[in-house]
Amino acid sequence: PSQQRSDIDIARAADIRPIADIGAALGVPWEAMVPYGHTKAKIGLDYIDSLADRPDGKLILVTGITPTPPGEGKTTTTVGLCDALNRLGSRAAACLREPSLGPCFGMKGGAAGGGQAQVIPMEDINLHFTGDLHAIGMAHNLLSALIDNHIHWGNALGIDPRRITWRRVMDMNERALREIVVGLGSGNGMPREDGFDITAASEIMAILCLANDLDDLQQRLGRIVVAETFERTPVTAAELDADGAMTVLLKDALMPNLVQTLENNPAFIHGGPFANIAHGCNSVMATKTALKLADYVVTEAGFGADLGAEKFFDIKCRKTGMQPAGAVVVATVRALKMHGGVALKDLKTENVAAVRAGCVNLARHLRNIKLFGVPPIVAINRFDTDTDAELSAIREAGLAHGAETVICTHHADGGRGAEELARRVVALVGRGEARFKPLYEDDLSLWDKVRTIATRLYDADDIVADKKIVQRFKALEKAGFGHFPVCIAKTQYSFSTDPTLRGAPSHHTLPIREVRLSAGAEFVVVVCGEIMTMPGLPRTPAATDMGIGAKGEVRGLF
Ligand code: ADP
Ligand code: MG
Repeated sequence: PSQQRSDIDIARAADIRPIADIGAALGVPWEAMVPYGHTKAKIGLDYIDSLADRPDGKLILVTGITPTPPGEGKTTTTVGLCDALNRLGSRAAACLREPSLGPCFGMKGGAAGGGQAQVIPMEDINLHFTGDLHAIGMAHNLLSALIDNHIHWGNALGIDPRRITWRRVMDMNERALREIVVGLGSGNGMPREDGFDITAASEIMAILCLANDLDDLQQRLGRIVVAETFERTPVTAAELDADGAMTVLLKDALMPNLVQTLENNPAFIHGGPFANIAHGCNSVMATKTALKLADYVVTEAGFGADLGAEKFFDIKCRKTGMQPAGAVVVATVRALKMHGGVALKDLKTENVAAVRAGCVNLARHLRNIKLFGVPPIVAINRFDTDTDAELSAIREAGLAHGAETVICTHHADGGRGAEELARRVVALVGRGEARFKPLYEDDLSLWDKVRTIATRLYDADDIVADKKIVQRFKALEKAGFGHFPVCIAKTQYSFSTDPTLRGAPSHHTLPIREVRLSAGAEFVVVVCGEIMTMPGLPRTPAATDMGIGAKGEVRGLF
């Protein structure tokens, strides 16, 4: 019966505890918490500093097979595993990304888990939460305003209005604002082309998620490259004296947010960068804090392991020295069936052969994770329509590729449904087998970094690009950005750049279309395909079903 209830009904019926109790269970004193209402709090930065000498807990990454439209369940598994670890008597915390508000009004499907594996208060988390997205949007748009204002008042820096790369952002799906003209009308500045991205795509989101403290945040904000001059030299936010004011706007947003799971266990939900043009993980501040307070920290990275885990390892762990102890690869019967060639409409029919065929996708992700020195374990997220024979087929494939494979039912049963997974994870990380190392060294050329990822993880034969792209890599290296990791932006639906190539395609070529510098986030974005940075709404947006019920409750949100 619980499966028939909507996520919002389950979340609302939960026995939610005061956030002080959740913090207290982690040993966080009330004075160190900045409450936002009764069930949300930020953790103070001074308190976080005071934890520096404590040992770290074990870091467990939850990642997945290549996504398919029906969804895999990484967030639900992160929550379910955290609850299960707590049920077994460990002190565990989940670390998740915070949802962007715009998509809530588009497609149904929350970013706060589902069924009996959710984080609460889910309406708040999915809507305005603690205002972090607003702060990031304001900091971003302050910088935009300072650029146009600088030009208006004489343009002392010689900014070429045709070469401004810093766009504007808002936290809404708004296709009408993708390409616009600003500065029209007399006295309103210099007319020029501009456009909006969604806030989660802002470089400031990526920066906030990688910053170690307020000082590091300001340094990184100052290094953002916003434009070029008429002489083609880069212009930074620091040259516009924008970094101080932006840091002021972000000082509260940098504090990690603490909430709870349906089973009253701690969940840090902080930062939500895109997983294509950025690295797709929650904030370093939150993960660092959780590692000081809990024995096990379970964290999710976006998309499949080819993008999400790779960036978690090669960007977040490389930059922070975090040492992941193990990785949970979430797989589903439905998704592996699709990777085995079954169409979306036929997923409900048993098809063991297709599941078996689709396991090539799982196998490649397992191989890849081991390349980073991290031991993987497979969590099969069970759906009602799965049959025993299909589940066994995945288990055999997982075992054949050297990973324990456990069936989980946390979506239906909460933490109880992931206890077996939790036991295996504890045993796996307890063996201390992880020898984490990034896939490539800092001093490899940018081209060879991309080539290493493409050939070793995607099984591409090679990468290709125009001369212009090759020159841009060279120019970035000359300007001192060659040691940055690369952040690959490609479709999440395939190891290749063709979203229709499911399974485990080989011998394809990775074409590079564009290169963008994120100097503050400290990575070079390598765009390999059409990348959407401002989503639109569907024909019938979820917004059209929303409203306030008789008791003042939110209706129609998932
Ligand atoms: P991901 O993090 O991989 O994108 P989520 O955990 O957010 O996936 O799950 C995607 C959607 O699928 C959510 O709406 C979730 O409630 C639903 N879901 C996940 N697991 C199950 C399951 N076992 N049965 C039914 N629905 C599920
Ligand atoms: Mg998710």
